[in-house]
Amino acid sequence: MDLNSKHDKRSITVLDYAPFTDPGMMEGINNLSAGLQGAVIQHINSTFVGGGVAEILQSLTPLMNSVGLQARWDVLRAECSFFECTKAFHNAFHGEDLDLTEEMRETYRQTTADNLDLVAEDADFVVLHDQQPLGLAERKDRQGGKWIWYCHIDPINVDRDLWSFLSRYAGRCDAAIYHMAEYAKDLGNRQFFLPPAIDPLSEKNREVTEGECAAVLAGFDLPQDVPVILQVSRFDRLKNPFGVVDAFLAVTEEIPSHLVLAGGAADDDPEGQEVLNELLQKIDNHPSITVLNLSPTSHLEINVLQRTADIIVQNSVREGFGLTVTEALWKAKPVVATPVGGILKQVIHEETGLLALGTAELAACLRRLLLNPELARELGRKGREHVRKKFITPVYLYNWLSLLTELNK
Ligand code: UDP
Repeated sequence: MDLNSKHDKRSITVLDYAPFTDPGMMEGINNLSAGLQGAVIQHINSTFVGGGVAEILQSLTPLMNSVGLQARWDVLRAECSFFECTKAFHNAFHGEDLDLTEEMRETYRQTTADNLDLVAEDADFVVLHDQQPLGLAERKDRQGGKWIWYCHIDPINVDRDLWSFLSRYAGRCDAAIYHMAEYAKDLGNRQFFLPPAIDPLSEKNREVTEGECAAVLAGFDLPQDVPVILQVSRFDRLKNPFGVVDAFLAVTEEIPSHLVLAGGAADDDPEGQEVLNELLQKIDNHPSITVLNLSPTSHLEINVLQRTADIIVQNSVREGFGLTVTEALWKAKPVVATPVGGILKQVIHEETGLLALGTAELAACLRRLLLNPELARELGRKGREHVRKKFITPVYLYNWLSLLTELNK
């Protein structure tokens, strides 16, 4: 299967986004893209489905093509043992202890070596997304083009041994991109700050008809007569669905409501099943809690769940950016989220949502929103506008084009 042509098939153009943008944005995109016509940009990551990076690349790749770049997207070929290793790396970026054994280093080096031919020889820009494909920077000296490491996770508490192992590769790149300035690491190369974005025209975020909503909800058997609280996330400890259950149980005793925990697997996340099993055990068939284990292509389902929920929670312990929050805000929903990582750029407390740390605070915010629909509406309205201005794909494309132009100087 030629996945690049598959992802290019969406016949969107940048003009389709004009209704969402501020005056001058389309002109800015035109002007910047004029200097980059025909430039080959290759994105490499570790999965076509599941998780934030895949979500971003699904929209960004065709959009870059639509303004005259030659964008392609390739995925590492790797065994389960590699993903076990890089998932442990992921957790160690977020501060978890890691015993970085020689075996892990060797697995990483070997998979890297097996994938060196993945890099396009004619690429003007090679973008390595996150830590999984970072080893490919080995190949940089053998070909031209600018190499970029795009760090989508919060590296502030990265394990020291891991960082000394990986920074050797990252330092070879011409530039590093972080979601925000607070994440910058000293690699001795150029640094850019580029938060991601959601695509307002994708299946995950487009407007849906009442008929589509009804058809999707018919498959889920959710109650219609009580407010629904939702968290959408991979089943991952760092998303802390367990804490959401605790807060919900405290609230639902006083205010009848229903909790939906929707998630699914990602090809590069081998821990999901274990976390899901633990979660089901904790919930113990509670009649007011629904766990939905969705397929990786359930974009419309997630869209409908987000649009029909009354409150959306994101209870992450750590969060690089948190696209699920962006998606929820775009749907004008009241969001309660933890004050961590990129969530802080999105949820401005009492303005575009509510920030809550720990079970008691989360429960208090849920109660407040359930009892105050006017506040919920107002937060949702401002949240959507905040996302429209900063975190939708045309803005992201503009920022990418500025970055590539700058890197070419
Ligand atoms: N997502 C999905 N199915 C799931 C769980 C998540 O499609 O079962 C999507 C979600 O809608 C969002 C992305 O995966 O677009 C998750 O990105 P985020 O930045 O929130 O977290 P990550 O998974 O990258 O840590």
